[in-house]
Amino acid sequence: MAILPIITAPDRRLKAKSKPLDRVDDDTRKLLDDMVATMRAAPGIGLSAVQVGSPVRAIVVGVREADREEDAPETLFLVNPEITFESDEDVLIEEGCLSLPDQFENVERPDEITVKFLDRDGKPQTLQCGGTTARVIQHEMDHLEGVLFVDHLSKIKRDIILRRLLKVRRQKQPADA
Ligand SMILES: [Zn+2]
Repeated sequence: MAILPIITAPDRRLKAKSKPLDRVDDDTRKLLDDMVATMRAAPGIGLSAVQVGSPVRAIVVGVREADREEDAPETLFLVNPEITFESDEDVLIEEGCLSLPDQFENVERPDEITVKFLDRDGKPQTLQCGGTTARVIQHEMDHLEGVLFVDHLSKIKRDIILRRLLKVRRQKQPADA
């Protein structure tokens, strides 16, 4: 498994709308496994393919131990995910993003969701979830539409965060590089 470079905002590639996958084949599985390695190394609890430069509808989610039944998998692989139910109740939870390093803000989203998707074997699955897992899936699915968590904030807050990230980038890369 390879650790892939993560694209950081602001970057036009993060605005792309990701394309559905026709099937889950070995290439897809390689991408998914590399995404898991990349997510764990970061470390993070969710990653979408577009963040590593593949604008296809695939996401991986790390499920925290507290949110997991005993024999439930540690990692969820969701290909072509679709939300089929959202609870009426919204909750405010602090979010971060591997494409917006060290930036955190509260974002309001539905508390519980039902999502259908293809798993790592290409089998159709339906998952009902709440808590952190529901939050991470919604955040990652936004990436597939070219939406970042800062797009849920006011323009002022968003601009502050994006300016901060540009400043960090300039400090890392000398102007004549
Ligand atoms: Zn993100």
